[in-house]
Amino acid sequence: MPAPTPIRPDHPPPSDSPAWHALAPDQAVRHLESHAERGLPADAAARRLAEHGPNALPEAPPRPLWRTFARQFASPLIAILFVAAALAVALGHRGDAGVILAVVLVNALIGTLQEGRAERSMAALRRLSALQVRVLRDGAEQVVAARELVPGDLMLLAAGDAVAADARVLDHALLQAAEAALTGESVPVAKSAAAVPAEAGLADRSGMLHAGTHVTAGRARALVVATGSRTEVGRIAGLTEGAEEPKTPLERRLERFGRLLVAASLGLFVLVVLLGWWRALPLPEVLMVAISQMVSMVPEGLPVAMTIALAVGMQRMAGRGAIIRRLSAVETLGSVTVICTDKTGTLTRNEMTVVGLWLPDGREVSVEGIGYRPEGRLRVGESTIVADDTVLAPLLDAAVLCNDAELVAPQPQAGDHGGWTVLGDPTEGALRVLAAKAGRDGAALRAAAPRHAELPFDADTQMMATWNGAQVWIKGAPEAVLRLCRPEDEALHARARTQAEAMAARAWRVLAFAVVEAAAPDASGGFAALQGRARLLGLVAQIDPPREEVREAVAQCRRAGIRTVMVTGDHRLTGLAIARDLGIARDGDLAIDGRELEGMDAAALRDALDRVAVFARVQPAQKLRIVEALQTRGEVVAMTGDGVNDAPALARADVGVAMGITGTEVAKSAARIVLTDDNFATLVGAVEQGRVVHANLKKVILYLFSTSMAALVVLLLALLAGLPMPLAAVQILWINIVTEGTVTVNLVMDPPDGHEMRRRPVPRDAALLDRALLGRVALMAPTIAALTFGWFAWRLAEGAPEALVRSETFTLLAMCCWFNVLNCQSATASALGPRLLANRWLAGGLALSIALQIAVLQVPALGALFHAQPLRASTLLPLAVLASTVLWAEELRKLRVRAARLTA
Ligand code: ADP
Ligand code: MG
Repeated sequence: MPAPTPIRPDHPPPSDSPAWHALAPDQAVRHLESHAERGLPADAAARRLAEHGPNALPEAPPRPLWRTFARQFASPLIAILFVAAALAVALGHRGDAGVILAVVLVNALIGTLQEGRAERSMAALRRLSALQVRVLRDGAEQVVAARELVPGDLMLLAAGDAVAADARVLDHALLQAAEAALTGESVPVAKSAAAVPAEAGLADRSGMLHAGTHVTAGRARALVVATGSRTEVGRIAGLTEGAEEPKTPLERRLERFGRLLVAASLGLFVLVVLLGWWRALPLPEVLMVAISQMVSMVPEGLPVAMTIALAVGMQRMAGRGAIIRRLSAVETLGSVTVICTDKTGTLTRNEMTVVGLWLPDGREVSVEGIGYRPEGRLRVGESTIVADDTVLAPLLDAAVLCNDAELVAPQPQAGDHGGWTVLGDPTEGALRVLAAKAGRDGAALRAAAPRHAELPFDADTQMMATWNGAQVWIKGAPEAVLRLCRPEDEALHARARTQAEAMAARAWRVLAFAVVEAAAPDASGGFAALQGRARLLGLVAQIDPPREEVREAVAQCRRAGIRTVMVTGDHRLTGLAIARDLGIARDGDLAIDGRELEGMDAAALRDALDRVAVFARVQPAQKLRIVEALQTRGEVVAMTGDGVNDAPALARADVGVAMGITGTEVAKSAARIVLTDDNFATLVGAVEQGRVVHANLKKVILYLFSTSMAALVVLLLALLAGLPMPLAAVQILWINIVTEGTVTVNLVMDPPDGHEMRRRPVPRDAALLDRALLGRVALMAPTIAALTFGWFAWRLAEGAPEALVRSETFTLLAMCCWFNVLNCQSATASALGPRLLANRWLAGGLALSIALQIAVLQVPALGALFHAQPLRASTLLPLAVLASTVLWAEELRKLRVRAARLTA
């Protein structure tokens, strides 16, 4: 079936494309040679994909490598180095000039490689969070990547879905779409299947859904008519830029810190020159050394380390099921102090089983069997009851008809050894299982009583209704459903309420069912039109077992200074019972529901916040209020959500977290993180990784700062003592670029130390170089400086040749750096324990650094360039022993810290 579609890929906008909005749905289907019920056959879809190309806007070509490379030269550091090289040439030191230029080149190369790596991992992550769409193909519902949509596809859309291509609405229920992105219209507009005049403007084409907009309410089946750059947005958008991530707060702080150091290094440059002049040292040499010293003060490794740290954190989080959509979330996660979490699916498994019913005649029914396997009896006391019971029957009808889920039998021939599964909402799937257990044939019932109209479930109304035949079947939260019920049955309703509370207190999820007889098949009046007309059919209680791993994750949060708060649409008592079970609520904690919340003013809410463990029957708009109230108290809030209406709260939270499985596209795009498994424990794992990122960056800062301080002190001491320069300019550069460069970035690859979740959250505005770090610098830098300067002065006094002494001093300083990087891995744990070399990147970096040092000493050509001489083993050994002092000094300090902690 070659499809002579009217759309030609190379001619957008196609002149022979009909005005889709003016065609009747069946005309449009015929025009695209699709099928209104079955959709496209798979092979036709594949052919069309080849013909039309992917449903994506053409991307701007990736930045060429040479431009990334060129960008590396746009830094003050490079300018300084060029000045130094020019100076070296002017002074006749061609070798030094060559070394400096090589340094510039190597620096730029490394920067280019690392930027490329960071960019690639970002691109991979963007692909992970790519849009998925439900379509009908070959008569079956499938989920495909939005890129694979073709004209003629039938999309299935529900509230919260993003519209991925331009499409003609075929049929729908209460469909509304937000089209602000396209038309500027800020409120959602109602959609319908009716054709409109061909000359209607974009905003008036109510029969069309457009790419770039999203569905805010209802559901629809829609025929794709244009994809990629032939969509309305495609025509205006042109190329999409490879979106550049804005700088994260930590990155910006790091930049400020870097600028501070640059300023300080300029001051030091002047100081060194003045001291050299005072000591009457040869000016050219003083200038070269001063410039090198200045260069080594600038922590050029830091921005790269930062980018890599965030990228690595992002990858590790993705590996554990948390996909990061905004880079800044990585660091904010480490600072989270409160997690507001959904209940169903996040704390619980979202595997529902109906365990009990309550019938209006007062009978209580217990249901046997667990899971989706439709086997088990319905018992009243000891006697079995089945579908022909006149009170039970209409409840079962409602359970099957007011329901969109399908129960799927295991399919052994498809290699499926698993059990029964549910397509759709587990709450509704469990109701199909219930009907099957009672012997009610759901498929036959649905065929006999087709649906004419519906009000889909929505988190605000907490109800759903369907029009089948002459009846309207209603199900939903008991409070909501009872409000629709006939006032004359109030005595019954009171009993139902008591019953519902008793069930909720057992952690059960309770639904009430009701029916309106003899109603016209018209849902347009909404629930208001049903008010006072419904007859209660009974209550159904389901269990939803908690996820086992959550209990530990909650406890972990508590130890880590993070509060967990449940925010649920479910009943207060259900929420509280589960919160108790999982350790979220403890004695004395409060559970308040949406109504009480409504009655509280800002001050009352703020005061209550400390003790509230559960917010129940919360409407999405109230989530926003909860986030804001917590934030005014200085909390850093993570909030989970899945529905369309959760988007504002997700956007407002410091870390908005969307559910990967149950989450809508709108929620995902408002969130900074998507949990692929919807699991609370995964979120807590991501928080831990966020803390690791902070901790590892601090290691880098500590290392860079302590070593460059040490080198500086050695130089100043030598100048003050009236000795010659302890290191040649190129040697200072070597230490800075080679010795440090091979290990610094590797520190950010450090694995977690296992204590991350025993500390307090990282304060959001914590200083980069805090007191604890400065204290350690104050131990490391003087130790290294004393060792290095001491050796230098002693060897000169002994009368050793100056060039040899310099080579020794140079090597000693490099060795100190190696030992010191081991020091930086942990603030308390010994470097010599099992952690030694556990970070393979660091081990490799150290090996490389050592090999290069040996090369620069022993290879004559390199030695000539770096003014270094071969050293004998009999010198190297004592140097190494001496250098290890800095390790022992830190080990002693750590021992004391650990001992103090034990006695505390
Ligand atoms: P949560 O996810 O926090 O458990 P939901 O927003 O999913 O809460 O559900 C809130 C309430 O809405 C439930 O307690 C239940 O009474 C009702 N409800 C949930 N799903 C449905 C549904 N598919 N149809 C009708 N009512 C529902
Ligand atoms: Mg839910």
